[in-house]
Amino acid sequence: MTLTIAIAGRPNVGKSTLFNRLAGKRLALVSDMPGLTRDRREAEAEIGGHRVRLVDTAGLEDAPEGSIAARMREQSERAMREADLVLFVIDARSGITPADEAFASLVRQSGRPVILAANKSEGRAGEAGFYDAYRLGLGEPFAISAEHGDGMTDLLSALEDRLDALAATAGREPDQPEAASARPLRLAVVGRPNAGKSTLVNALLGDDRMITGPEAGLTRDAIASDLTWEGRAIKLYDTAGLRRKSRITGGPEQLAVGDAINAIRFAEVVVLLIDVEQPFEKQDLQIAELVVDEGRALVIAVNKWDLVGDRNAYAKALRETAERLLPQAKGVPVVFVSAIAARGLDKLMAAVFDTYEKWNRRISTGTLNRWFQQMLERHTPPAVDGKRIKLRFITQSNARPPTFVAFCSHPDELPESYIRYLVNGLRETFDLAGVPIRLYLRKRENPFDRERSGTPARSRSRAQTRGRR
Ligand code: GDP
Repeated sequence: MTLTIAIAGRPNVGKSTLFNRLAGKRLALVSDMPGLTRDRREAEAEIGGHRVRLVDTAGLEDAPEGSIAARMREQSERAMREADLVLFVIDARSGITPADEAFASLVRQSGRPVILAANKSEGRAGEAGFYDAYRLGLGEPFAISAEHGDGMTDLLSALEDRLDALAATAGREPDQPEAASARPLRLAVVGRPNAGKSTLVNALLGDDRMITGPEAGLTRDAIASDLTWEGRAIKLYDTAGLRRKSRITGGPEQLAVGDAINAIRFAEVVVLLIDVEQPFEKQDLQIAELVVDEGRALVIAVNKWDLVGDRNAYAKALRETAERLLPQAKGVPVVFVSAIAARGLDKLMAAVFDTYEKWNRRISTGTLNRWFQQMLERHTPPAVDGKRIKLRFITQSNARPPTFVAFCSHPDELPESYIRYLVNGLRETFDLAGVPIRLYLRKRENPFDRERSGTPARSRSRAQTRGRR
């Protein structure tokens, strides 16, 4: 069986050079498919005992002016669709450009497994670009020089690992992900029994209730309804409604947490509905923690607000309680609704969209590192055993939820309090209130010395990593 590797990236990053190097002596140009593409080169090669078809989308530099963007996009999308694995290449010397970001987002949308290569990393010219590559959200970059052959051992062994895994699962076609642009916000309402979930779901759906039924590829245990709220598409997962239709054993306590687990699988934003008459019970907190631990965006809605007399005082008290009980999601939005009277729904949905936006936020590496320098100057990282702990660079490696990687000389020794200081700083400076934030500390020697120092390729996956949520 032949697996296909698509080499993707913007022009001039060195895709063709890498293609030639991977194809090696066996380079055999397969003729272009007539009418399909003139810009694509293909070759058969062997990597770690696997026969692979390499597809290179090079030559686009020569495409007529004006049509370049469209054609690159089209080309890359097609190549990725047909590939089993994407080898995404950036130019470490020039750092991450908007075109890289556009391509990276295509790669993410393709849903294909991806290996990220930071090319032109010979010498140390590519160091900043290498670190910057983390923020593409495509995993750990491999520093290589396709021209000089640096870093190829590591890259090849990573390719090999992936090919092994792919060959093992061959035949199972991965699900085609929906295009991000057309994708509705996935929302779920969870909470204890009788909090008013069904009432709220009905209120949100209003008259245009439309059950779409279980989606292909998902399991049967979530029913999704489509709705639009102020022009925005939402897919609402109604786990409570479904539960009534099936017979599930177990007490109501298990059911609420079970619903939350289901919701977490499907939803991006989870509304935790709380009964104002019994606010913040143990189970409410369990559910909230589950949502945050899984990195989803959380909104707390306090229901049956129609029953409350002194609303201002009570609202304040409930907000303080939320703040105290959920320090991992500091600033989590708390809104007050009456599902039965369809009141407060606009505020609830505004909080949902706002949190969703924060949860998706991407902060540029430049901005992030200017902030980082200030934080380090304000409070120097402490010395341990007389040795200074050095922090040198931070980048956002992913969104949904916002995830950061900071490079540190001694990740295991940086005190918890300092990590909290950084996480709180991120939250405040970049307006990330209420969403889970992940900060990973990573030890990294000069990545370009690796081959010279003879570090075994596979040890990279065991590089010291420390994460904090
Ligand atoms: P679920 O188990 O969470 O789906 O809860 P339901 O939607 O079935 O509601 C449970 C009970 O709370 C029902 O008797 C509802 O009429 C009542 N209820 C729901 N929302 C409100 C509200 O906003 N105010 C008041 N007073 N009662 C509500």
